[in-house]
Amino acid sequence: MTKYRITPQDFAKLYRGYDANLAKVDCGRKCAPLNNGQPVCCTTDNAIPVVERAEFELLKSRTDLWFRYKPNDAAARKIVNDLPRSSCAVECKGAAFCERDNRTIACRSFPFFPYINKQGEFVGLTYYWVFEDRCWIISNMQVVERSFVEQMIATFERIFKLDENEFETMKDHSASMRRVFSRHKKFIPVIGRDGGYFKVMPHSDGSLKPCDADEFRKFGPYKSETAYIRAVKEAGGTLPPAPKRGYLAP
Ligand code: SF4
Ligand code: SF4
Repeated sequence: MTKYRITPQDFAKLYRGYDANLAKVDCGRKCAPLNNGQPVCCTTDNAIPVVERAEFELLKSRTDLWFRYKPNDAAARKIVNDLPRSSCAVECKGAAFCERDNRTIACRSFPFFPYINKQGEFVGLTYYWVFEDRCWIISNMQVVERSFVEQMIATFERIFKLDENEFETMKDHSASMRRVFSRHKKFIPVIGRDGGYFKVMPHSDGSLKPCDADEFRKFGPYKSETAYIRAVKEAGGTLPPAPKRGYLAP
């Protein structure tokens, strides 16, 4: 029998405590018109979910939603081949078939990952920066719900306790982000684990500088309403309906 650091049962428990909505708004309706009508994070052309094998085992026992991702070009094949043995790349049947309770930890967390500071402390959440130009949430971090942040922090605290390698992966990824962002003279936006928004300045000691969410940058088609409307028209997409209440377009 395969031995896992985190077992399928651990993942079942993690899923039960991690079901908060990322935001009140359905952000998929914002990015889908620019991605052939599909949410960006639900199409493997854009984002390939990577799971622990134990998590895949749990999912296979609960649903037929998920299958192994089959790379269709050399670049994707390299990504898959470079994964550690304990992980695998997966694909679901698509957004129209989404089963809320059977979303992976990766689905539930997108576009965020735990930000680990230079001192090795888990201080908050930041985002996978390669999606800056495609994920609407990254340009609108003020809409992220506190309950989501709390659940994601609690989930990853638990994962780090169960598997030290996960912590090391996130620590390395945070360090890479500091290098990349320093090189481009950009600050790293962080949603604080205990509330508030922060910046990690380039080439700094890595401390968190409090700020307002409106200081965070917006990207590509999400820079303004005009840019968004133009981009949707160019993509041949349909604009999402105007909100009835409680939500403004970027
Ligand atoms: S998290 Fe980002 S990529 Fe995923 S549906 Fe929301 S806006 Fe789109
Ligand atoms: S399970 Fe749902 S959230 Fe996850 S990739 Fe598939 S459609 Fe998207």
